[in-house]
Amino acid sequence: MCRVITVASQKGGVAKTTTCINLGIGLARAGKKVLLVEADAQGNMAASLGIQEPDELDVTLASIMEKVIDDVDIQPGEGILHHEEGIDFVPANIELAGLEAALVNVMSRETVLRQYLDTLRGQYDYILIDTMPSLGMITIDALVAADRVLIPVEAAYLPIKGLQQLIKTIGRVRRKLNPGLEILGILLTKVDRRANFARDISARIREAYGEQVRIFEECIPLSIRAAETTAEGKSIYRYDPKGTVAAGYGSLTKEVLADEG
Ligand code: ADP
Ligand code: MG
Repeated sequence: MCRVITVASQKGGVAKTTTCINLGIGLARAGKKVLLVEADAQGNMAASLGIQEPDELDVTLASIMEKVIDDVDIQPGEGILHHEEGIDFVPANIELAGLEAALVNVMSRETVLRQYLDTLRGQYDYILIDTMPSLGMITIDALVAADRVLIPVEAAYLPIKGLQQLIKTIGRVRRKLNPGLEILGILLTKVDRRANFARDISARIREAYGEQVRIFEECIPLSIRAAETTAEGKSIYRYDPKGTVAAGYGSLTKEVLADEG
């Protein structure tokens, strides 16, 4: 059985892409078949997985979604790239921004991504969707396509308001379009363990949402090593295997695997 997890937050820089890659590769290291889908026109995920110029790719999530919209057949494996650490991925680039604008006039626009991913569920244990920092149409598509949402929160400022808006949007998608959608959990990222305010913010998030939403036990520490992986095209497990961030994503992977029940 395949589980589709969307990593979402309308704030940029909270480690959505970093989390997608390192959770995805963590799950692959645990023997799971994993596909990462980049639903972000910035192409950051593609770049972090070693694609030098994402904007020069011909086949991307945008061209695939266009085929779904136009009812054109998609060839098996079309647009799916492979990363040497054992995952498959569908990259995106700037063309996704144009597609998002064009979606406005499309019938069943909220389900385009789901229609595509439903054809791939049979081949993967996990499909992780990386999203852009907005609650626009492509992000709604990613929520409609998902079974679970993982919400990274940077523990460096008080994010309560943005969180409220996101949780409300998830609720609306659940009621109107995807009744099976559940929040997998909130993941605290870029946590500076030396700073007291990080602990303070975790406590406040727990206070505000701990009853409603699970907060993952382990948080992801702040580390320059994590920031450096972006340019290396590899996971934190390869780049800094003994570091605190590898340990953090290792624990997150175990928690996500345990959630299978
Ligand atoms: P998003 O996808 O939410 O915009 P990214 O995953 O691109 O966020 O991360 C934003 C920036 O923070 C990137 O430069 C990334 O390398 C860096 N970063 C991610 N995780 C960590 C961490 N644990 N410690 C320090 N820097 C991090
Ligand atoms: Mg990103």
